[in-house]
Amino acid sequence: MMDEVLRDVHAVATESLGQGSVADYIPSLAEVDPGQFGMAVAINDGSVHVVGDADVSFSVQSISKVFSLALVMAEDNEHIWTRVSREPSGNPFNSLLQLDQEAGKPRNPFINAGALVVTDQLHAQTGSATSAMRELIRNGSGNPDIDGDPAVARSERTHGNRIAAMAHLLASYDNLECPVETVLDEYFWQCSLSMTCREIALSASFLSRNGVHADGTRLLTASETKRVNAIMLTCGTYDAAGEFAYRVGLPGKSGVGGGILAVIPGRCTICVWSPALGTSGNSVAGVAALDRFTTLTGWSVF
Ligand code: GLU
Repeated sequence: MMDEVLRDVHAVATESLGQGSVADYIPSLAEVDPGQFGMAVAINDGSVHVVGDADVSFSVQSISKVFSLALVMAEDNEHIWTRVSREPSGNPFNSLLQLDQEAGKPRNPFINAGALVVTDQLHAQTGSATSAMRELIRNGSGNPDIDGDPAVARSERTHGNRIAAMAHLLASYDNLECPVETVLDEYFWQCSLSMTCREIALSASFLSRNGVHADGTRLLTASETKRVNAIMLTCGTYDAAGEFAYRVGLPGKSGVGGGILAVIPGRCTICVWSPALGTSGNSVAGVAALDRFTTLTGWSVF
């Protein structure tokens, strides 16, 4: 049944190819062929169903923010919320204005400022944010070679004046524990991770299993897992979280590489990817595919 659904979803997503445009503010992302589409569904019974370019690696970008938040919450679910709020921002994901107006406390962990604070806390907690995340995604996906793409990270660093300004603003409000340069290096490495739809869906499968990885080890409590999913639903798809909830009805986190991670608690995790983005920064074909998927299956959180 699932393979039939995915064939239908693929056909619908293909109709959207050609709409939107690839992110070009990071030069190495501008070179990606926009005609690609992939989708992977990792079901809680251990099976994985894929269609299209599900085994092509792409730049994870902000999807990595889900992994860093989960790793922080696994260790400390209190302190982080004194440093970051949990409300949708209603502002661009890289707004400096809002951060300054709100005295250096970012609106949520999925905008850039919030992710810098989460990365900072993860680095302080573990000694290496990179190693902690590498371990999580390599174990979860079964691929020991997953890594950041140094060319993408360099490209972001070179064009990252705005986010560097944000990190300095956070530091000026005493909301960074580690040195600004360290936090930026860790953050850009996470964004540059190169993974496939299959690998992302598998690595995130603890989100559909009440916090337990496929191998039976626990990362989060059921309640912490609910909270990560809730923040994905309200804040995970830039300024279009309302539209995404309306059309798709699932917790989701998108990245400017064109990937979207979505969770159906108790059933499966899904990753779709197609590089061309709509005006809100979400993959056009990716949202169309998830919309079709939840319509066909009737699976949503509502
Ligand atoms: N590296 C990107 C940035 O901070 C992440 C953007 C995204 O995927 O939202 O600008």
